[in-house]
Amino acid sequence: MMNQSPPSQQPLLFTIVGTRPNFIKVTQFDRVFEEAGFAHQLIHTGQHYDLNMAGVFFRQFDLEPDHRLELEHASPTGQMADILLGLEALFLKHKPAMVLVPGDVNSTLAAALTANKCGIPIGHIESGLRSEDKGMPEEHNRILTDHISELLFVTEQSGLANLEKENIPMDRVHLVGNTMIDTLVGFEDRIDASPILHDLSLQSSAYILMTMHRPATVDDRDAMIKLTALIREMTAVGQIIFPIHPRTRKQLQTFGILEEWDRMSGLTLTEPMGYFAFQKLIKHALVVVTDSGGIQEETTFRQVPCLTLRPNTERPSTLDPGSNTLVHFDIPHILDYLHQIQNGQYKRGAVPPLWDGRASERIAAILRNRLFPEA
Ligand code: UDP
Repeated sequence: MMNQSPPSQQPLLFTIVGTRPNFIKVTQFDRVFEEAGFAHQLIHTGQHYDLNMAGVFFRQFDLEPDHRLELEHASPTGQMADILLGLEALFLKHKPAMVLVPGDVNSTLAAALTANKCGIPIGHIESGLRSEDKGMPEEHNRILTDHISELLFVTEQSGLANLEKENIPMDRVHLVGNTMIDTLVGFEDRIDASPILHDLSLQSSAYILMTMHRPATVDDRDAMIKLTALIREMTAVGQIIFPIHPRTRKQLQTFGILEEWDRMSGLTLTEPMGYFAFQKLIKHALVVVTDSGGIQEETTFRQVPCLTLRPNTERPSTLDPGSNTLVHFDIPHILDYLHQIQNGQYKRGAVPPLWDGRASERIAAILRNRLFPEA
C-alpha cells in the first residue's frame, strides 16, 4: 500500500497542538505524512505560548505552525471558546480530510468538538488512557475526545481494554505505540549532544530529577508545605534538579514558599528546560520524581527509575512492565524507595510493545488505508 503513488489531489490532514506535551508528540508527522502522500498542516492553538513552554520546542524540532490562533481569554473555558471559533474558521476554509488531535489537554477537546461540529472525522492520538480519576481535568478531555473520534490510536494495551469497556466500536481502534517515544528515538543524537550535565556540574546517576505541576499537588498550600519537607529530606540522597513549571512557580509565590526553595542547599531550581537538555537529564538520572504523564513514559523507555507522586496513573504499562512506581505522599515511604534505588535493589523494568520509534509511521499507514481506499 505505502509505495503506491497517491492521487494527484493530496488529502489534507490538520494536526492541532496547544501545549508542551502536544508539541513533543507530533515531531515526526510532517515527514511520515508527506511520505504517505498527504498534505499536512500544523495548527498551534496558543494554549502554551511563551518561549520556555512553546517557542523552544518549535525551534528545537524545526516545526513551523502553518496557522496560529490568538487567544483573547485566559480562563480555561474562555480559551476553549476562542479555540472553537478560531478553528471553525480554519476548518471551513481549508476543509481538511481529517483532524488529528494528540493528548488530553483543553486544546485537544476543543479541536475535537470543532471538527465534530464541522462534520470532519477526528483521529485521536494517545487514545484510551484512563486514570479513573474524575478529579483530573484531563480525564474528561480524554473520554469526551475518544467518544467523538473516528480513529483511535492507542499507545498501550490498557487503552484497548478501556475503549472496549466503553463500547467504542473496535474497528476504529488501533494499537500503534507511542509517538512521544518516536521523538526520543528521532532526536537521540541531539539529546546525547546536550551539554547540560557539564553545565550543571552533574555526574551521571548521582542526581534526582524532579517535576511537579498538576493542580492536585501544586494548588494546595498544605501539599506544597509537605512537598517542601520531602524535598529537604531528599537532598540527603542526592542533588535535586527541579525545572519549575510556570503554574508551580506561581503557586510557590502565592503561598510564600518560593524563597525557602531558592535558599535550600542541594536543590537546583531552573526554568522549564528545552527538550534535549531535559531528555539528557532523564537519561542519566539516578531517579525521576514527578507527577507528569509523559515523563512516566520517557523514564520507562529509558529504564530509569521513576517515582510518581500520584494516587493513580492513566499509563499502567509504565508500572508493569515499566520502571515507574506510584508513591503516596508519605516521606518515609518515599525515602525507602530512594534508598532501594540507590542500593540497586529497584526493578529495571521493560519497554512496552511498539514503543520503538515507529508509531507515527503506523498512524500514517492506517490513515492512508482509510483516506486512499482505492490505492
Ligand atoms: N519536559 C521538558 N522540559 C521540562 C519538563 C518537561 O521538555 O522542563 C517534557 C517532558 O520530557 C515530556 C513533556 O515535557 O516530554 C511532559 O510535559 P508535562 O509534564 O508538562 O505534561 P504531561 O505529560 O504531564 O501532560
